Amino acid sequence: MNREEIVMVCAPDISGQVRGKSIPLADLHGRSGRGIGWVPTNVQITTFNTIANSPFGSLGDLLMVPDPNAEVRVDFGDGSPSEHFFLGNILYTDGSPWECCLRGRLAQALDALSAETGLKLRSAFELEFQFLDGSPGYGPGFSLTGLRKKKRFGEAYLAALRQAGVEPDSFLREWGDQQYEVTMHPQLGIKAADHALSIRELARATAERLNDPVTFTPIRDLNGAGNGVHIHMSLEDKTGSPATYDPSRTAGLSEVAGQFVAGILFHLPDITAMVAPSLISYARLTPHRWSAAFNNLGHRDREAAVRICPVAELPGMDVAKQFNVEFRVGDSAASPHLQLAALVFAGLDGIRKRMKPPAPTEEDLALLSPSQLEKRGIAPLPDNLSEALDRLEKSEAVRSWFGALFQDVYVKHKRRELEFLDGKTIKESCQLYERVY
Ligand code: GLU
Ligand code: MG
Repeated sequence: MNREEIVMVCAPDISGQVRGKSIPLADLHGRSGRGIGWVPTNVQITTFNTIANSPFGSLGDLLMVPDPNAEVRVDFGDGSPSEHFFLGNILYTDGSPWECCLRGRLAQALDALSAETGLKLRSAFELEFQFLDGSPGYGPGFSLTGLRKKKRFGEAYLAALRQAGVEPDSFLREWGDQQYEVTMHPQLGIKAADHALSIRELARATAERLNDPVTFTPIRDLNGAGNGVHIHMSLEDKTGSPATYDPSRTAGLSEVAGQFVAGILFHLPDITAMVAPSLISYARLTPHRWSAAFNNLGHRDREAAVRICPVAELPGMDVAKQFNVEFRVGDSAASPHLQLAALVFAGLDGIRKRMKPPAPTEEDLALLSPSQLEKRGIAPLPDNLSEALDRLEKSEAVRSWFGALFQDVYVKHKRRELEFLDGKTIKESCQLYERVY
């Protein structure tokens, strides 16, 4: 059968999806400068395909322009059509950036970080997901049986990631039911978020080829493990030297990295609705799931909102190069670009205001009473999406970073998602989310 290759120009959006339009590959060159036409109200298409209240209505036109540095082309070698897309930036028709373009917002946050501090952010995403087939034989967590069960998938998946320019770090059987995890090598700037997006999309593309569906939904079963997105971050100075480590300071966190973390924790209640943006995200963010339930800095603690990670200190190993902190609150209902943009804006504010990080905790905070927590200045994270959205809506910080238009659009979008789920049980909501993510 004759075929003509189709390529998609697309961008991450508020609902955590990737949306765009596809064109004949043969036309790409001729239109790479202006890309494709895009509609402002598309930003209000929710995860359940309803359209939230939009300030744009039927008006307005935008351009989605492909970024030549963000092309993914994967040939699975099985005769199936290649997976071919470009991530793009959404611009007004005069070329100025559109406020609701998430990739553009991340670029803006990273530019501000480097302009004001000379620092660059290197980050790596760690994503958990689950297979949807109910067949037995997944074996115990982290087992060879579990790897064997999905090795065919894993190897096709790693080959696809490699072709897409993503450097896989691991593919492993996680602990939860049918749960696996994939991690990547750290990348500078926007590339890290682009790769995180490819990691999700290429898992779906592999699943499609092998007829073996997966879900990255935040949680499937309240009695089981959640699927987190952990973001490892480190800072580099102008010379490319690591700037996160200082052995003379508490837990080895350098002064500037401490300020960056302090900014993230200070603003966390205001940005939780961006990093954990679904109704069911808050079922994951509960104690003893190794996600995060409190607004805290933990020293090597897998239940902390921000964890100071361990490093290998064997002879000849460079500790400063490895040293990083891990943000554990996020999940895959969010766009990686928006997650990272919110973290960078918050962290940069911490540097600007020379905020001091809290003392790192090293204990089970869920065992402390509310008054003990209060005495130590540790607050729980927002309890549900509605509460998190109220915080975001009132946040002057969010308004100053993202602008009033985006803040309004975001809150309306997410409230429409909640409205759609109104009256449904948590189990029904989990089932709906798992089909989308
Ligand atoms: N499943 C946990 C989460 O929801 C993370 C487990 C781990 O890798 O430490 O974030
Ligand atoms: Mg894990």
